[in-house]
Amino acid sequence: MINIPKGTKDVLPADSYKWQYVEAKAREISRLYNLREIRTPVFEHTELFSRGVGETTDVVTKEMYTFLDKGDRSITLKPEGTAGVARSFVENGLYSTPMPLKMYYIIPAFRYERPQAGRLREFHQFGVEVYGSTTPDTDAEVIALAHDFIASLDLKAKLYINSIGCKTCRKKFNDALKDYLRPNLERMCPDCRARFDKNPMRILDCKVPECKEVTAGAPVIVDYLCDDCRAHFESVQKYLKIAGIPYKINPKIVRGLDYYTRTVFEFVSEEIGAQGTVLGGGRYDGLIEEIGGPSTPAVGFAAGLERLLLLMEKSGAEFPQEPAPVVYFAGMDAACREKAFEIAVALRKAGIPCEIDHMNRSLKAQFKYADKLQAAFTAVIGGNELSAGVMNVKNMSDSSQHTVPFDRAVEFFAR
Ligand SMILES: [Zn+2]
Ligand SMILES: [Zn+2]
Repeated sequence: MINIPKGTKDVLPADSYKWQYVEAKAREISRLYNLREIRTPVFEHTELFSRGVGETTDVVTKEMYTFLDKGDRSITLKPEGTAGVARSFVENGLYSTPMPLKMYYIIPAFRYERPQAGRLREFHQFGVEVYGSTTPDTDAEVIALAHDFIASLDLKAKLYINSIGCKTCRKKFNDALKDYLRPNLERMCPDCRARFDKNPMRILDCKVPECKEVTAGAPVIVDYLCDDCRAHFESVQKYLKIAGIPYKINPKIVRGLDYYTRTVFEFVSEEIGAQGTVLGGGRYDGLIEEIGGPSTPAVGFAAGLERLLLLMEKSGAEFPQEPAPVVYFAGMDAACREKAFEIAVALRKAGIPCEIDHMNRSLKAQFKYADKLQAAFTAVIGGNELSAGVMNVKNMSDSSQHTVPFDRAVEFFAR
């Protein structure tokens, strides 16, 4: 017996309708905002992620599925969606197509993490990328899309936003932050001590209690924004108000990478406790340049589908069931079975879902099975019916009986 690898999960036939429901919502909302899907490979050259995700991040240093292929190339299963989209944008010269380029993806992604509820080694993401526009209404539109997606799943999550400024304002902020942290550096965790020189802003993100204590009164970047960044942030907020989307400013939300700029945001649910972020995103105007393309502004987000599904289940959200077959055919002998098969072919051609017995069950067992299937009708074709050219149809909801000629079957069930 070979078991499933640690940190992965099967989606069984009885549960896949839940996934399809969430994915359909993602596609439907994307269409409302005029986004089109982009599909990129499951694996890429490792270098793409060290440059596109960031060499110092946990994802790149500890969590990637990296291997040499038979041609000795270093290959990595994608740990997130953005880098591949950015690579495709540059490689296919999409920057010379009309802007903005509005895209979404639904992908599996891979991280070697300690598996826990809602966090697997193979997980799935719905992500959005909008390239080519610097305007604050673009940020607001991406946030509105995220908001509509979450709302369409009947989930409640609070929106927190922040601005992390541009290179200019961040330099001033980093200096102020380092001055504040320096006297307490010894009390902080080894990761934060390493971040102090490379990327001090990420210290604000640390979950270690001692570090949180130290950073509690730290300067906040919104106080250090340059005039342009401040105006951008205020405008994003104005657009969120126009959209009627409530939000709070959380100065602790940071995206530690150099290519992140200005707007960052998170949707946080209080229902899953410590790992409450269900969707996160922001603006990353420096990414395309970082991976070798022409300077191109970008804004987007990603949401983990496992976590959303977990949250929906916990909050008792409704997943519409897949429709049951309309008709179940119960036949008793070979001739009747052939007739049932023939009518099923005609019904399917007419777009009417149906099922026939494939197991040679007894008639009683077939009725039981029809009940289990929740078929709307059961059609019985026995010897008498076959010679009369009719079938005996039972409406399963009110138990009414109908005699339906074979040649009127499509008409009868199409109602
Ligand atoms: Zn700035
Ligand atoms: Zn720390």
